[in-house]
Amino acid sequence: MRHKTSRRAACFALLALALTAGLSAFAPARSKPIQVVATIPDLADFAKRIGGERVEIKTLSKGTENLHQVHVRPSMLIALSRADLFLEMGLSMEAAWLPELLVRSGNDDIQPGEKGFQNCSEGWKPIEVPDSLSRKEGHLHPEGNPHFNLDPRAGKHLATVVQAALVRVDPAGKEFYDKNLEATLKALEEAEARWAKIGEHWKGRKVCVYHTEFNYLAQRYGMQLAASIEPKPGIPPSPGDIARVVKEMREQEVGVILTAAWSNNRQVADIARKTGAKVVELPNQVSGADWATDWIKFQDGLHARIAEAFGTPVPEESDAK
Ligand SMILES: [Zn+2]
Repeated sequence: MRHKTSRRAACFALLALALTAGLSAFAPARSKPIQVVATIPDLADFAKRIGGERVEIKTLSKGTENLHQVHVRPSMLIALSRADLFLEMGLSMEAAWLPELLVRSGNDDIQPGEKGFQNCSEGWKPIEVPDSLSRKEGHLHPEGNPHFNLDPRAGKHLATVVQAALVRVDPAGKEFYDKNLEATLKALEEAEARWAKIGEHWKGRKVCVYHTEFNYLAQRYGMQLAASIEPKPGIPPSPGDIARVVKEMREQEVGVILTAAWSNNRQVADIARKTGAKVVELPNQVSGADWATDWIKFQDGLHARIAEAFGTPVPEESDAK
């Protein structure tokens, strides 16, 4: 009996050894994962793609929240206090709720300018940079449009920036991060090609937006932004603004309104009723809908839904659904 037990124990030991050896071929040995905190699920997705098993990721905002007004929770402070790397979108996207939270975390390594801080808009050329006068009037996008996570071309930029940040805080993982970046860029290239086949039918199509978050996507395919319902980003429309938008939409025969779930969609519905336009309510970040489980699927879904609203084709082989 004793003999049998010890043989079984030896078998388990061997099995454990084989498993460890097998796993180590895939996951480079590292006892403690790099702690990454991302402000939005899009950045967390790129950290996951590039960081793989070497990282543990926490995301501050839920995909369904207004990115400019994320509800601050105590768990965020705990996550930030333990972070090795912090990723923000930048361009003042998180300016209303984040700076104080970062300071209160007491984590010196992730403060702006430190090794563990990454502004992911670094190197990105923003559209719609306001003049100094509108900046003084409390513009919500003071450094230009920060919603570039909605640009189908932004994936490569975000993947590259996140990879460089990971190498900076974890140089031993460089080879691993390089390999994952290469695979990610390849997947993005394929995805961009299938999105281009859908978006090529949208050139000149007129749309109205509530907030200006869909402007990068519209610009990518040469869509025409006929009107913004908010007179300025973050400023709710007055009855006069609504009347102006209805007039512009009727004159220009705009048939589609793109809006996010968190926008004031009672006013959007009112405008749609008066103009007969279709309302396309879309998430503006990963996890903002049950189908937007990662950044590529998020873009696939956006493309499919906008194509449906315009009545333009989606190629058979496309994953966009
Ligand atoms: Zn905004």
